[in-house]
Amino acid sequence: MTSSKVFVHTIGCQMNVYDSERMLQQMYVLSVFATDVMDDADVIIINTCAIREKAVQKVYSFLGRLTAIKRKRPEVRVIVAGCVAQQMGSHLIQRFPFIDIVLGTHAVHRLPEYLKRLDRDGGPVIDTEMTADIPEFPADMPVLPQNTVSRHVTIMRGCDNFCTYCVVPYVRGREVSRRPEDIICEIKMLVGSGVKEVTLLGQNVNSYGIKEGLVSFPRLLRQVNDLIGLERIRFVTSHPKDLSEDLMNSFARLDKLCNHIHLPVQSGSNRILAKMNRKYNREIYMDKVEKLRAISPGIAVTTDIIAGFPGETDDDFEQTIDLMTTVGFDHIFAFAYSDRPETPASRFPEKVPDPVKGERLRRALETQEGITRQAYDRLIGQVFPVMVEGYSKNQIKSGGVKQLHYIELSGRTPENRIVNFHALAQGPVTDIDFSSGRIQNVKIERACENSLWGTAVDPGDLIIAPKGGEAYVA
Ligand code: SF4
Repeated sequence: MTSSKVFVHTIGCQMNVYDSERMLQQMYVLSVFATDVMDDADVIIINTCAIREKAVQKVYSFLGRLTAIKRKRPEVRVIVAGCVAQQMGSHLIQRFPFIDIVLGTHAVHRLPEYLKRLDRDGGPVIDTEMTADIPEFPADMPVLPQNTVSRHVTIMRGCDNFCTYCVVPYVRGREVSRRPEDIICEIKMLVGSGVKEVTLLGQNVNSYGIKEGLVSFPRLLRQVNDLIGLERIRFVTSHPKDLSEDLMNSFARLDKLCNHIHLPVQSGSNRILAKMNRKYNREIYMDKVEKLRAISPGIAVTTDIIAGFPGETDDDFEQTIDLMTTVGFDHIFAFAYSDRPETPASRFPEKVPDPVKGERLRRALETQEGITRQAYDRLIGQVFPVMVEGYSKNQIKSGGVKQLHYIELSGRTPENRIVNFHALAQGPVTDIDFSSGRIQNVKIERACENSLWGTAVDPGDLIIAPKGGEAYVA
């Protein structure tokens, strides 16, 4: 293996972001360093997602672009990882013969071995074997130098729920939880390198450890909460059917657990929820949200919505809109239903026509826009602790920071709301280091579509110490 630069393109969920980081760490050990420029790379990895048809199309179009690169530079290694790799296996090679390695979802930790095999024996190498255990990476893997205070940590993989529309159990396998000691060890390493916030990841974190007889998820949260140096804990995703009172109470008990839960409801119609095999109904869901809000006032609840599931009538969809307005979500991720290979729903009759799906999706998004706007308006005048993560989008668009002037910073509240505010930069400030994880109190003054604007309290405080200057609370 003589390569020295790797370009990773990640599509899909945070689980893929985590796996991409693991691949980069393994490459780093081989002295292959990350680059943002694909044309400079000796190894190109595409980490793929199969959850929706659109995501799969993105994979094919990216691989189409690689055809020309591989023609010009045949020595470039092309690796396809993730859910599409798992699902398609050797079919991917048939369609794109230039692929060197197809790395299934259970093979991420074997990347170095396969690169060596490729150099030695030639390719392609295909590994889509599903194993019953969870691959552990060596505990001494280097923490990659990244200008970020927040990282993801996978605590479990796979899923046993078999929602009828979902491909995850087929491409990620059955649910397996990591040992708590391995998780704690990984978080300690991250905290030691300056990370202040972790998001614990799993398809259904609420059932963490149950199968294996490990500690419960609330107990794991308590262990993470005890880690000195860590300031914030988040987790995703929670299946509503497994959201226990113990977990709900964690929001009141644990000072580092952020006041936000992502609780995918998918539909507001009990008939559709049953067809989806979700194992709860709208009443149970709404009852749990009410309890959560009683335990942890002000908690932000976000959700996923599928528009146009097979057999969904206008009346079913109206019930989804009704549930959305009754619950008052902070934010939703809404998608038009698409058939996924192997899933039961792909064989359901009564497909909803595309234009109807599109119209329902549009209405769900439009309805949520109004709900978010009202919810954000109610926050005006309140003060929130914001963990500063970087420049605001506006600042980035305007080309960064060059001299002494006002800059726009951005961060998140515990409720996961994005808040932008001004600071005064004393230059030359061209390369601000945001890795201190400074938490700044910001008074909200204005609500935008997906973010809030405010003024930092305590003007004059040093907020971040940039490499080439300083920035103060304006
Ligand atoms: S809980 Fe359902 S939607 Fe979520 S990953 Fe498992 S099968 Fe898919």
